[in-house]
Amino acid sequence: MRKFLNIILVIAMIALMIMPANAGAMVALVNDSGYPKEIKYGDIEYCNCGIDHTNKPFEWWTDITDRNSPQWDLIHNYLTVQEDGTLATDDGYTACALGRYFGKIGSKWVFICDDGSEIKVVKADEKQDRHTKNYDLIHGIICNELIELVVDSKISKTCPTGNFKDLAGFEGNIIGWKEVLENDLPDLLKGSIYK
Ligand SMILES: [Zn+2]
Repeated sequence: MRKFLNIILVIAMIALMIMPANAGAMVALVNDSGYPKEIKYGDIEYCNCGIDHTNKPFEWWTDITDRNSPQWDLIHNYLTVQEDGTLATDDGYTACALGRYFGKIGSKWVFICDDGSEIKVVKADEKQDRHTKNYDLIHGIICNELIELVVDSKISKTCPTGNFKDLAGFEGNIIGWKEVLENDLPDLLKGSIYK
């Protein structure tokens, strides 16, 4: 019995030695080189407007036609149409139109829902200021939305309602957000309409 306990102790020690010391702090994402990449975020901000942010409308990526815009540059050079019809970066940030509050085109954000789920977003288009509620530069006027997905026509099969609360991964009621710092997209996307 004593010998048996010793063997367990040795196995446990080996396991501890193999495990990276900061494994708990790491995020389960891997960069191009295959090494784990730790993601740094800005402070979490909560939306205290009191309105439900479950509804999520969309716009077509094909409606972005200005070849001299950063939107065009981002969509055509850094995003891929996904199986479900959304557009996303290689590291899984979904293209959305956001208000001016959320920075320039190419900014990455994580939107936080009241059920604990998170929606990773890259700003692929900007809502006009006059299309935000009372010019707050945050909420859209379609349905007080925070995010408006920029999508491909394939979504007619995966999300026939056109409201992305009905698509897996986008169901949540958004209550806050945090910015992804150290964004790997180019700081200045090509285009004259730089916002
Ligand atoms: Zn709000």
